[in-house]
Amino acid sequence: MTKKGRVFSGARPTGRQHLGNYLGAIKNYVALQDNYDCVYCIVDLHALTTVETTADLKQNTYEMALDWLAAGIRPEETTLFVQSHVPQVTELHTILSMVTPLGKLTDLPTFKEKVRQNEGNINYGLVGYPVLMTADIVLYRSDVVPVGIDQAPHIEFAREIVRSFNYRFQTKALLEPQMKNTEIPKVLGIDGKEKMGKSLNNHIELAATPDETRLRVMQMVTDPQRMKRTDPGNPDICNVFSMHKIFTPAEDVEMINRECRVAGIGCVDCKKRFAENLNKSLDPFRTRRAEIGKNPEDVWDILHEGAKRARVIAEKTMQDVRAAVQLP
Ligand code: ADP
Repeated sequence: MTKKGRVFSGARPTGRQHLGNYLGAIKNYVALQDNYDCVYCIVDLHALTTVETTADLKQNTYEMALDWLAAGIRPEETTLFVQSHVPQVTELHTILSMVTPLGKLTDLPTFKEKVRQNEGNINYGLVGYPVLMTADIVLYRSDVVPVGIDQAPHIEFAREIVRSFNYRFQTKALLEPQMKNTEIPKVLGIDGKEKMGKSLNNHIELAATPDETRLRVMQMVTDPQRMKRTDPGNPDICNVFSMHKIFTPAEDVEMINRECRVAGIGCVDCKKRFAENLNKSLDPFRTRRAEIGKNPEDVWDILHEGAKRARVIAEKTMQDVRAAVQLP
């Protein structure tokens, strides 16, 4: 089958993935493989801008790759690799930085946000993050980048850098990436308030055991206005109900929706059902994860093989770039 083009996406090595990562990114990564030539990158260099210690970097990279593979990334057809295994990206980053106005970088809302979060460690890499991201995308001649609406400015910025480069050096060496606007849900954590994430410890790991998962689910905050079992609930503002809609068969969702509103079903029962359905959905993932994880070396082999393929594309792009810049 001919594919529609090349997709690129990268994510920092954050270790074991959670439901937010799955619903917000991985599920889409898996689906895109059907129609696109996919390049998925674990961006370890990006992680260096904010991590306090690099001691976990290797393990986090491994755990994340293992989760992605178990979730359905197909390494025979998809190029899955680690950013730093393709050194050309740093070369392209340096060259692109010469056509990127510093003022634009420091004006980006995401940079300002990072400054707030990383007070005391405003390093040079933090400023150049969008340039490295542009290098990631264009090095692999990516046609499309799937992003949520909040990431749109970064892709627009990448397009500007590409245009500046191509104009400055009178070349067509770099391809302007297109944005593929993806409906990316914001998955809330077990607190029912904040976005699910590791830093807030409000997440549910995909690789957790069924018992651990059940425990976590039982801690989930439901409709905050429902105080007693006899109070009618409101599924429209209940985070557990929003999860039921994803993991529970339609007729049960309908029943919960109906019964919650008349206090026919309580939150504890509702959460037990959700835990059961979630565990059922995650079962095949866990089996595959255990299978692949028997030989960690296989995961590294996949990543190294992916890097080998990625380097071929990268080197071709860099030959065009070096020629355009007229590097001696
Ligand atoms: P990164 O900073 O590399 O994006 P994250 O771990 O924050 O690393 O996110 C990885 C991917 O998972 C991103 O595509 C992000 O949008 C998605 N993601 C993370 N948490 C959530 C969440 N709670 N809801 C939806 N998507 C999420």
